[in-house]
Amino acid sequence: MASGKIIVITAPSGSGKTTLVKRLLNSCPHLQFSISACTRLPRNGEHDSADYYFYDQDRFKKLIEEEAFAEWEMVYPGKYYGTLKSELHRIWDAGHTPLVDIDVQGALAISDKYPASCLTIFIEAPSIEVLRERLKLRGTETEQSLTERISKAEHELVFAPKFDRIIINDDLEKATRELIEVVAQFIPTHIC
Ligand code: 5GP
Repeated sequence: MASGKIIVITAPSGSGKTTLVKRLLNSCPHLQFSISACTRLPRNGEHDSADYYFYDQDRFKKLIEEEAFAEWEMVYPGKYYGTLKSELHRIWDAGHTPLVDIDVQGALAISDKYPASCLTIFIEAPSIEVLRERLKLRGTETEQSLTERISKAEHELVFAPKFDRIIINDDLEKATRELIEVVAQFIPTHIC
């Protein structure tokens, strides 16, 4: 089976990561989004096998036992998320580079597992206050999940220096340019 490079992007929810990832994928068709598995319910507009592989806990736990994950984690209480090895291989076998969009612990776990292959990028919001406002505007969170996400973001910031690159998303255009540039340097044979 082919194996190659991996681009790993981490950012607290509300940091603008989704927009940046979309822009990166549009300008670099060589990259392919790695669809994670998770046990949370789909949000409005999300689809199985496109946004996530939405599994129930029993199925997810069975896959853990079968060592099907490159990494997995309980990201929020009772909510499992993981990167399937089969997903990375599906993308490599198709001649592409996977773009893995996961949280800090998952990113560090993947880069431990595939040290020579990974570029890890941390996307930072300009401040926790901006993050809180963006999350509120998105309107997808309850008061409790908003608090969970903010405290996770504060915790994650501590790990940013462990990443190969940190991109601060205070200006979307600038952050997009920076992101495309670092990825293009990492996979120079593929034009982004
Ligand atoms: P959301 O529920 O907002 O889609 O994602 C919540 C968090 O889970 C985000 O920080 C996201 O990056 C992370 N996440 C998504 N997929 C994975 C995965 O496969 N593994 C890990 N460790 N985290 C993931």
